[in-house]
Amino acid sequence: MFTLKHYIEDLINLLFPELCYGCGNLLYHGEKDICTACLYDLPYTDYHLHANNLLAKQFWGRLPLETAMAMLYFKKGTKVQNLLHGLKYKNQTNIGIRLGKLLAQRLSESQLYVDIDVIVPVPLHQKKLRLRGYNQSEYIAKGLAEELGIPMDTKSLMRNKATESQTKKARYTRYENMQDVFCVNDTEGLANKHILLVDDVVTTGATLEASGNILMNHGVKKLSIAAIAFAEQ
Ligand SMILES: [Zn+2]
Repeated sequence: MFTLKHYIEDLINLLFPELCYGCGNLLYHGEKDICTACLYDLPYTDYHLHANNLLAKQFWGRLPLETAMAMLYFKKGTKVQNLLHGLKYKNQTNIGIRLGKLLAQRLSESQLYVDIDVIVPVPLHQKKLRLRGYNQSEYIAKGLAEELGIPMDTKSLMRNKATESQTKKARYTRYENMQDVFCVNDTEGLANKHILLVDDVVTTGATLEASGNILMNHGVKKLSIAAIAFAEQ
């Protein structure tokens, strides 16, 4: 039934049209944040169904992981980049929550993520946090936590110092540079738990490797990784 509420919603939409964060087209009635066509079209990896996927393999010998996945392939100039750019640089934090919920749907289809105890977003350095005003990975983790009904912890894993631009360095130097970047200040909250570490985009994996190893050194029982997108090297 077309109620007064629907009528008012449509009127508001007419005056302030909502656009899809992926393609920029107008959203239709019932669509939110991302249009149906984009949701259908996104380059899903299906990594959550395959323990030995490319992302998991990238961490072999670097980090003792239970399992790892990223939901989408990342390529420049695509809808995936539009979504993540909006989340990271344009204050469009609801994209993070929406993507986190989509990620949760994927994880709940998999047997690999059934015993996660705590969701931990990769922390942003305080200086960057002040500049941007928010940690984009925290919004992804929030959507994920809400949908899965698993607690999120944003206090136990912290970042020490800002890292200079990592892009032009070799992997080893990057890893060394990351070694003293993270610290754990509440071991009790994480000890003997299966932690799901959450990031937006994985490229070299240096940040996840450093933060993951710090977590493992503080009594975490099992560690897994979930990210929105993976940029193959
Ligand atoms: Zn769209």
